[in-house]
Amino acid sequence: MALAKGSEETMLIGIAASPGIAIGKALILTEAVFAGEKSEVNGDQQQAFQEALEQSKQEIILLRQQVSQQTGEEAASVFDAHLLMLEDTSYVDPIREAIGQGADAVSAVQATMQQLVDLFRNMEDEYMRERAADITDISRRLIRNLTGSTAVDWGAIAEPVIVVAHDLTPSDTAQLDPSLVLGFAAESGGRTSHSAILARTLGIPAVVGTKALLSKIKDGQLVIVDGDTGNIVIDPDADTVMQFRQKAAAAAQVRAELALLKDQAAVTIDGCCVELAANIGGPRDIAPALANGAEAIGLYRTEFLFMDHEAAPTEEEQYQAYKAALEGMQGRAVVIRTLDVGGDKQIAYLDMPKEDNPFLGWRAVRMCLDRPELFKVQLRALWRAGCHGNLKVMFPMVSNLAEVKQAKHLLFQAREELLAEDRPVARKLQIGIMIELPAAALIVDQLASEVDFFSIGSNDLIQYTVGVDRMNENIAHLYQPLHPGVLRLIAMVIDAAHRQDKSVGMCGEMAGDLTCIPLLLGLGLDEFSMSAGSIPQAKKLIQSLSATECSKVAAKCLAAGEADEVRKQLAVLA
Ligand code: PEP
Ligand code: MG
Repeated sequence: MALAKGSEETMLIGIAASPGIAIGKALILTEAVFAGEKSEVNGDQQQAFQEALEQSKQEIILLRQQVSQQTGEEAASVFDAHLLMLEDTSYVDPIREAIGQGADAVSAVQATMQQLVDLFRNMEDEYMRERAADITDISRRLIRNLTGSTAVDWGAIAEPVIVVAHDLTPSDTAQLDPSLVLGFAAESGGRTSHSAILARTLGIPAVVGTKALLSKIKDGQLVIVDGDTGNIVIDPDADTVMQFRQKAAAAAQVRAELALLKDQAAVTIDGCCVELAANIGGPRDIAPALANGAEAIGLYRTEFLFMDHEAAPTEEEQYQAYKAALEGMQGRAVVIRTLDVGGDKQIAYLDMPKEDNPFLGWRAVRMCLDRPELFKVQLRALWRAGCHGNLKVMFPMVSNLAEVKQAKHLLFQAREELLAEDRPVARKLQIGIMIELPAAALIVDQLASEVDFFSIGSNDLIQYTVGVDRMNENIAHLYQPLHPGVLRLIAMVIDAAHRQDKSVGMCGEMAGDLTCIPLLLGLGLDEFSMSAGSIPQAKKLIQSLSATECSKVAAKCLAAGEADEVRKQLAVLA
């Protein structure tokens, strides 16, 4: 969207991908080599491709080392995925086949790239859609190595700039020098694209997904990139520059203040201490979790490991991933949720039937209990990984006591199998369940005898309590975390669990919502698990609250008739 403002300046709105404000001259990167322009590659095309493949692998290994030293393991791990892709038969074989049928190597790479990019871009899951950028990245590298053309030469940038491009590949982003690149703006990409993740790790403000950006901006033009709001201002006037400079200074001050809280506990002014944990999708999210002061991992969504693969990940692959997360957390608790697929998360190789109501269907623990051969692999990997840290296992979408008993039965069967094979296993794993269904919330007193802890999955609990599909934008206004019905269920869960000395966390979005935190604190929630970036502000808020006051207000909220009334009650604490 372009908003004309004043005579010259143009404001565009994209997706805020990495926080901070950058003001500087635009350096536009064009994509001549990759936009279909063909360069001849002489000689045997299969051999040329093989050589380019080897050279690309070597480059990626070097780049990984370099990024690991300069930026850290989190950023470097992006390149592990690239190495895996270069060895993946579903990428390499079609290229070889196309060459075998007479295509030149460059066209074969371009055609395969296009096919896979189209496939990924059409996937429903945002994370998978953005893997298209990784395929583009490795394909471009292969083409460069086939044609002998050069990549962007960052060394040639003489003064600090704002890099503007259609898309910035992870390789390009990783090589940005934060002292020369003030910020970046791209036409494509989303918040979870690897380029965005790298920009956050490098601390470079970035806005992505800005439609028509390249048609509005010229090389060398002054530009403002606001990575907090997603705004881009092209050719700003002096007043606008001044406003953004002031905003940047204020934001930098807030960030510096929040960073000081990193190693502090989340304790209220009257001494009530809660745990702030992070939600992760895999081991590469551990570094930002720690950097933001996470005391634990409250939810490891293992389904991403399954989505990243073409077949179910093996026991060894799962073990390595869980072990890496546990080792990264250095003894702090890591709650690993067993496979939660179905609903909006479909995995082709699992052959799940098409259902009329997938959210009420064969999903999560229901499917796992019916497919013990699949479930056991994960349970075995969990027992083995448990030797490397403080692992807690958690079952999703539990609706009754029998499911918990069956899941535990399979869990202990997996342990027995491993012991019989003389494999090292954890001595004990804490066992928890998610409370996502009203039926489960209502029988927490019964479920408590079977588990060590509970974690409220508010994302699903709200949709099932209010009867509102969490994906349907037409009824989004009815999806109300502060609906008194939802609050009463949460209060019941916490009270019933506490009566049996079981702890209660929350790992849905509500736990990181600054409006809801005082209320949840007042209801007695023990652990708040959220995206890592939300932790510092949540901690600051908790440190400013009185738990006694919060519980008085929470009691009033429970007596309210509607969400607006709850909101009014909470305003007293703001
Ligand atoms: C939830 O339902 O609150 C939850 C954390 O699980 P997911 O969002 O993965 O369904
Ligand atoms: Mg859920």
